[in-house]
Amino acid sequence: MLFGGLQKTTLVDYPGKVAATVFTLGCNFRCPFCHNPELVLPELIAKQPRLTEKEILKFLKDKQGLLEGLCVTGGEPTLQLGLESFLLKVKKLSYQIKLDSNGSQPQLLEKLIDQQLVDYVALDLKTSLEKYDLLTLGEVPKESILASINLLKKGKVAYEFRTTLAPGIVTEEDVSKIVELIKGAPRYFLQKFRPTAILDPTLLKQKQWEEATIIKVCNQIKPYFGECAVR
Ligand code: SF4
Repeated sequence: MLFGGLQKTTLVDYPGKVAATVFTLGCNFRCPFCHNPELVLPELIAKQPRLTEKEILKFLKDKQGLLEGLCVTGGEPTLQLGLESFLLKVKKLSYQIKLDSNGSQPQLLEKLIDQQLVDYVALDLKTSLEKYDLLTLGEVPKESILASINLLKKGKVAYEFRTTLAPGIVTEEDVSKIVELIKGAPRYFLQKFRPTAILDPTLLKQKQWEEATIIKVCNQIKPYFGECAVR
């Protein structure tokens, strides 16, 4: 496992739990709106301080009883060799585990769910399926994303879908297409794009989603989900 960061406490990343978050290094996507380019671009990863698995497990052992959960995010955690064995060690310390994923590795995701190594999965749906090549440079088959969606819809693990309303990447039409794929899901969140340091700063020049449009879209799609909100 390659770890590039540890947030020692978070009250917002794991629904209903006091948790810590670990950040893994490396990603097979290049989302222009990515807020963690230092975890994605090889030239920035090279400059990133590393944490060892041992250090993280020691931290978690010390915080037993104080923290309830661990969020594993990236980068893309499912690309990490050793993820399964790391999660097993975290489980042995009695932590609940939330995994954030871009959905590109459905087989591994299924294995983790079947072995009960994850308790909650947050799957990012970046845009409508036909536009995924914009984010993956054609390197990730869309069928993999669809397989991950269908896997979560089986309901073997608690989950949420979420979409960042990135200008130029996600339109109202894209949201409608995503909703067609996932309607009936327990949770779907629309995330506001934050115009801060991102992987491709040219995106900042694109027309942003207006607040009123975000609320309108959220209200339109709400009936299709158990919970649907703007973050
Ligand atoms: S937003 Fe997520 S999937 Fe996209 S490049 Fe960043 S870490 Fe990878």
